[in-house]
Amino acid sequence: MTKLLPTSTAGSLPKPAWIAEPEKLWSPWKLEGAELAEGKQDALRVTLGEQQRAGIDIVSDGEQTRQHFVTTFIEHLDGVDFEKRETVRIRKRYDASVPTVVGAVSRQKPVFVEDAKFFRTLTDGPIKWALPGPMTMIDTLYDAHYKSREKLAWEFAKTLNEEAKELEEAGIDIIQFDEPAFNVFFEDVNDWGIATLERAIEGLKCETAVHICYGYGIKANTDWKKTLGSEWRQYEETFPRLQKSNIDMVSLECHNSHVPMELIELIRGKKVMVGAIDVATDTIETPDEVAATLRKALQFVDADKLYPCTNCGMTPLARNVARGKLEALSAGAAIVRQEHTAA
Ligand SMILES: [Zn+2]
Repeated sequence: MTKLLPTSTAGSLPKPAWIAEPEKLWSPWKLEGAELAEGKQDALRVTLGEQQRAGIDIVSDGEQTRQHFVTTFIEHLDGVDFEKRETVRIRKRYDASVPTVVGAVSRQKPVFVEDAKFFRTLTDGPIKWALPGPMTMIDTLYDAHYKSREKLAWEFAKTLNEEAKELEEAGIDIIQFDEPAFNVFFEDVNDWGIATLERAIEGLKCETAVHICYGYGIKANTDWKKTLGSEWRQYEETFPRLQKSNIDMVSLECHNSHVPMELIELIRGKKVMVGAIDVATDTIETPDEVAATLRKALQFVDADKLYPCTNCGMTPLARNVARGKLEALSAGAAIVRQEHTAA
């Protein structure tokens, strides 16, 4: 991107009420068959329009065609039985009934590629597309086959790489992998988490990103955040190894979090998507608040590598709140951009 401080979102955005129940994770579809297929395309048109009107520079599909950022991808793979469910603890935080890995996992057909091709026809601007990361995928499953988190992660990385290559071919500019699990399993991240992520991006020529956050603004996450103390130093455990990785960009949570901003220094050289919008509150940030977060980040990241972003996805928020937050992000970025070009 030649524009300074190009804005984007971490990924998901609220869906229109006519396609799925709003303000809910895993919200079931309200349409089916051909109507659902058309409804998904209309939802993509709507989310694109909303992002463009808000002045977002790097647009995304807002995850309008998926029920959930992890499970929808897994549903399309062989080797996972969605009928056979076990209760596991997700990211050491909350229990959920999850599907079981019953055999070798493989991707027989593309998952989001048709959606991406359609979305590409709607805009000439840069598009970012999110996929779950290998470690976050294994954390959302019960494994009765490989019985090794690491082995399963390598297999998932292979399937993600196949999907990513086809997304790149479909014209996607930035492929992002969501790895909230990187903020929980530090030893695994350094042992094999980043290595499997690099397997997922192997051979890609488009830009690649990893999104590491403290989760959606749901109760299990906000309760967990209360146990983390006054300084959140989780990034400190993984950034040094991430800095040496082949990933181009890192998307992280900043505004209203207790992450010390200087930790960004640990990934110096990477492009940084700085979360300047809190997704865990309905309060809409002012442009000045956004600008203040970006200015603080600029102490630790070069201006040409700073990408103003949201802390995480906004799917659980009301649409008008999400729209307001997108506008605030654009307006805040414009203030700092102005300061830079004037200087
Ligand atoms: Zn997130």
